[in-house]
Amino acid sequence: MEPKEYVSSDINVYFTPGLCIHAAECVKGLPSVFNTKKRPWINPENGVASAIAEIVERCPSGALQYIRHDNVRGELPEVPTIVNAHTNGQLEMRGDLHFTQYEQPIVTYRAVVCGCGQTGNSPFCDKKGSCQ
Ligand code: SF4
Repeated sequence: MEPKEYVSSDINVYFTPGLCIHAAECVKGLPSVFNTKKRPWINPENGVASAIAEIVERCPSGALQYIRHDNVRGELPEVPTIVNAHTNGQLEMRGDLHFTQYEQPIVTYRAVVCGCGQTGNSPFCDKKGSCQ
């Protein structure tokens, strides 16, 4: 799952479509930067880095990530780790999360894990099982 990169002078944004659960925190929170009606749909040069970082950190799935270039510290993991079990089976997690997928390590601070066993992107939710 290679993320797509969206570049600006202060902050780069990365998006992994296979992880997105369409919670829409991004498009609701900062439509000048995240707009699915535009191509590309992410335009980090249309916002300030601190606002973009704040919105990216709201993304529950970790589909959105960022790297800042303005010497301001980046995201820190939630301590202690939080696991929020939703009634639709999804497990929303925040913390210093270390997964292995197809023998490849994945480290992230935000993830939504499948709780129904029907995902095609295990261990992550792909919104195609009982959570729909
Ligand atoms: S906030 Fe994250 S999960 Fe939600 S729509 Fe945006 S990228 Fe997808």
